[in-house]
Amino acid sequence: MVTGDAAYIKKINRSLIIREIVKEGMISRADLSKSTNLTRATISAQVADLLEEGLIIETHLEHYTVGRKPIMLSLNGNAGYALGIDLDYGELSFTISDLLGCPISSNSVKINTTDYKDILQLLIEQIKKFKAEFNDSRYGIVGIVIAIHGLVSKEEIIHYVPRLKWHEKNLKSDLEREIGIPIHLENNANLSSFAERVFVHHETDNLLCATLYSGIGLGMMMNNDFFRGHEGYAGEIGHMIVVPGGKQCNCGNKGCWERYASESIIFQHLSELRQIENLTYEQIQEWLNEGDEEVLDVMEQFIFYLSIGLNNMINMYNPDVIVLDSKLLRIYPNSLKKISDNLNSSISHYRELRISSIGRKSSILGACALAIKQFLDVPMLNLPFLLKTVPDESVII
Ligand SMILES: [Zn+2]
Repeated sequence: MVTGDAAYIKKINRSLIIREIVKEGMISRADLSKSTNLTRATISAQVADLLEEGLIIETHLEHYTVGRKPIMLSLNGNAGYALGIDLDYGELSFTISDLLGCPISSNSVKINTTDYKDILQLLIEQIKKFKAEFNDSRYGIVGIVIAIHGLVSKEEIIHYVPRLKWHEKNLKSDLEREIGIPIHLENNANLSSFAERVFVHHETDNLLCATLYSGIGLGMMMNNDFFRGHEGYAGEIGHMIVVPGGKQCNCGNKGCWERYASESIIFQHLSELRQIENLTYEQIQEWLNEGDEEVLDVMEQFIFYLSIGLNNMINMYNPDVIVLDSKLLRIYPNSLKKISDNLNSSISHYRELRISSIGRKSSILGACALAIKQFLDVPMLNLPFLLKTVPDESVII
């Protein structure tokens, strides 16, 4: 008979073993025993259960030349799926990944409404479709995480989404009632920072990720957790004032950082200068290639204001890794060097400044990764970043 205590210890040991396998990616039973301090017999019994459940798999290392080929254990990516959703203005995007965070299928639905009930209905229909389509694995869809472009409270209530003009919506509960799978909501910038930590920067437990598209959002991963502030709204760094009495912002203040250093502002500025609607990155790239002085000036101003905000941010947090998610910075030559040359205060300290290699997909991949982390119940994930081309269908409704 398994007593309450024995069952509890078994559960703790199981969690310890899963954590170690996830952390190492691939590990032998002998090394598991060493790193967890559990006996070989305990490891053996628990691993047998996990293999039986299909959650882990064995791999024989063929290239081993000396002695017995060790049998390695790793997470079974095919045991289930995670569904990440990006609820953006004008578009709902969906990505299904395996349990190693590798995207398998993506689609997006253009929407021309901001009405809560209409969008809720669309989400229910789409999620039900995915649920029916991806039920062929042991665990099916193990979790759903939705990226929200606005303020989400610690209780996962949507407090405010500026572009959709939503206030106090309990999307989590409205969806769970219909779907029957746990749904989690998280701020999109938080999910981008999570993706950077899980897929790229495995070595740090202190990472800031600033997304610079329609505004400036800041996601913060500290000690392997989100830094959320008192109610969950921390990271609204785009509204830090960098120009006293400057440009009017929607938030009611003047001179906010995102009025000077977000991509939408640069696009707006260049569109007005050149009288071009629907300006593209390709067009900007072309101007940069030609050495267009006026465009170069605009980009230098972007770098200048971006550096002012970053300087303030660094002084506030003393981060280890800072990731900037911006396509304009990727296409502008030497942008990182130009920014770091501006960050020369003897007071501000950081270790590494990088431009995101994941890019705009980071929040949805972060959503998949968070669903996996919650399913496995591990403190952190280290997953390989597999850049695979996923068919991305766009459906217009
Ligand atoms: Zn503002």
